[in-house]
Amino acid sequence: MKSLIDIPKKMKALVLEGVGDLRLEEVDVPELKEGTVLVKLRACGICSSDIPRVFVTGTYHFPTIPGHEFSGEIAAVGDGVDESLLGRRTCVFPMLPCRKCKACQKEEWAQCSSYSYFGSRQDGGMAEYLVAPVWNLVPFADSVPFEHAALCEPSAVSLHAVKLGKVAEGDNVLVIGTGAIGLLIASFAKARSGKNVAVAGRSADKLAYASKLGFETIDTSKEDIAEGAKRIFGDCADVTIEAVGSNEAINNAVKATAALGRIVLVGNPYGDLTMDKNTYWSILRKQINITGSWNSSFNSRINDWKEAVSEFESGRIDLGGLVTQTYTLEEYEKAFADVRDKNTFTLRVVFKMGD
Ligand SMILES: [Zn+2]
Ligand SMILES: [Zn+2]
Repeated sequence: MKSLIDIPKKMKALVLEGVGDLRLEEVDVPELKEGTVLVKLRACGICSSDIPRVFVTGTYHFPTIPGHEFSGEIAAVGDGVDESLLGRRTCVFPMLPCRKCKACQKEEWAQCSSYSYFGSRQDGGMAEYLVAPVWNLVPFADSVPFEHAALCEPSAVSLHAVKLGKVAEGDNVLVIGTGAIGLLIASFAKARSGKNVAVAGRSADKLAYASKLGFETIDTSKEDIAEGAKRIFGDCADVTIEAVGSNEAINNAVKATAALGRIVLVGNPYGDLTMDKNTYWSILRKQINITGSWNSSFNSRINDWKEAVSEFESGRIDLGGLVTQTYTLEEYEKAFADVRDKNTFTLRVVFKMGD
């Protein structure tokens, strides 16, 4: 064991004690074990999935510290860990797979049948410290701010979807959805296609923001999505990435996609979905390739996390615009209220810890 700091016994953390019962508490600093590091957390985002987790469904068990989108610096290393990691900035892949099931044998961790997860099945990042296995670390350069790197998880999810859509140079890409994931998908798609990327949604604030980030926009409250795609691209989209999960969005994705095009489904569904016959027909007739996208790849063949980090380091992807509010852990009530308030413009609300 080697440490850069005097490891305190206690730390501040947001603890979910029951559904809707989040509290700022003093809890034990987790214990450093062989093969793990102590991360002094510096930033943790509130994911949209944290809202139902905290207020509706609860975490896997109570009490749990939420937060799976976080970054920090390595303050101590356990036995058997490379000491050169000390002081490095790092993100953490939040999944702890079983390593035994069929999916794990293929390093397809997101498909693991029995996993743990920082921030839902075990304590996560809304705290001052977290202990993570070395395997989960994704170190990044000092030039990348912690609050940007806290968006590595949604970035890896977004890059994963763009790669499944096989977005190539010159492709016209339509993204349906203006949330953080939609705008991140648009950013990674633009870095790959180098061409037109259009973002469709109905929130005027978010569309104005998307256009400030350099994307074409389609206001779905005023314009049909397929018409919008034709206006912008002169044709239907080569690739459509759906990041809403509504019936309407999925039907529109089919209408707005060109023959032999590709659709990637990312949005979690709001409820049961139906499709009219003509839309279904056009999937057949246009021979559209539809694929689902889940989580991200983090294996020896494909590592969306490392690729996302290198995009931040090179400056090709700038996440500055996506962090719309920052708060301390003490201000958690306001932070969660902002995310839940439909009248407050948020993309990612991020907790900043330390100085
Ligand atoms: Zn998330
Ligand atoms: Zn497994």
